[in-house]
Amino acid sequence: MDFLARQKRLAVALRDARIEAMLVTHLPNIQYLCGFTGSSGTLLLQAGTRGAKLIFYTDGRYTQQAADEVKGAKVVIGGKSALAMATEGVLKAKIKVLGIEAEQMPVSLFKYLSHTLRGKTKLKPIAGLVEQLRAVKDPDEIQQIRASVLLAASLFQTALSAIRPGVSETDVAGEMEHQARKAGAEKMSFDTIVASGLRSALPHGRASAAAIPANGFIILDYGVILAGYCSDMTRTVHVGPVSSSHRRMYDSVREAQLASIEAVQPGVEVGQVDQKGRKILEKAGYGTYFTHSTGHGVGLEIHELPRLAKGQTQKLVPGMVITIEPGIYLPDKGGVRIEDMVLVTELGHEVLTPTTKDLITL
Ligand code: ZN
Ligand code: ZN
Repeated sequence: MDFLARQKRLAVALRDARIEAMLVTHLPNIQYLCGFTGSSGTLLLQAGTRGAKLIFYTDGRYTQQAADEVKGAKVVIGGKSALAMATEGVLKAKIKVLGIEAEQMPVSLFKYLSHTLRGKTKLKPIAGLVEQLRAVKDPDEIQQIRASVLLAASLFQTALSAIRPGVSETDVAGEMEHQARKAGAEKMSFDTIVASGLRSALPHGRASAAAIPANGFIILDYGVILAGYCSDMTRTVHVGPVSSSHRRMYDSVREAQLASIEAVQPGVEVGQVDQKGRKILEKAGYGTYFTHSTGHGVGLEIHELPRLAKGQTQKLVPGMVITIEPGIYLPDKGGVRIEDMVLVTELGHEVLTPTTKDLITL
């Protein structure tokens, strides 16, 4: 991973915003900028005219890990909290304007900083600066994401072999998660969704004790974290004979998903991508049952920028990795969602998820 390039990009973005330094407290942003994967630390980045200067503060539990992992930053380990040490660093460097992560900082930390730095350093809340950088993946990240996507896709087979009427949803999820760990995943990207029968009408139906019914849809939405990078996919399968209304639901979602994928290319506004699929579902009469946005960026975190929602004007850029996941949810029939991860390329897009979208009946 090219941490120095990322640090430079952030320094440029800060200088453009006339902010001389930034305190990074959100752990995924710290990992992105300097490589540290532990669970406690604070990063101070100064965007001087001669390049970025970084100091990473953490405590004694992470002495070895910080030495092994942190790149491009001086590591300071002390007896105080990382934030207290970083605050002293801010005062020592006589920083006048300090950017803080408006969307991530707890009120208690904000109060502590305001109090300690009062009259000396002005706090400047900034939103999503590192997150905007993270939206465009570098080649090393894309390689990790590909591996994570393939591992997740391999678990679909595990799910298919586990699904039988009468088996509980948690049983199916358990088989998938066990297999994920055996294949090297650090953990799942989020609580595995196995939503069967009428529960499939819950867009976020986490696996429950419910037994798989003899007939109906099952939504499987899951992903793994492999070497720090998340994957996310959804397939909907069917147990028992498929009624014509279920077939029509499935085909409509598939058509909408393909239409949105087709729209993915550099320069296109994400709202357009959402609109392409949404229009198809509206025409088919399912408009009001598509109750969420079309997708999101994926990387170190499961939900990243960009947000592919109605009316969003952010433009796609090569290197973005996004999900396309339209769905419809009918309380009396169940639900269908199909989700792939898609890489924005110079020429258009590449669907990373290799799994079939034909309706599988079990
Ligand atoms: Zn998902
Ligand atoms: Zn998703």
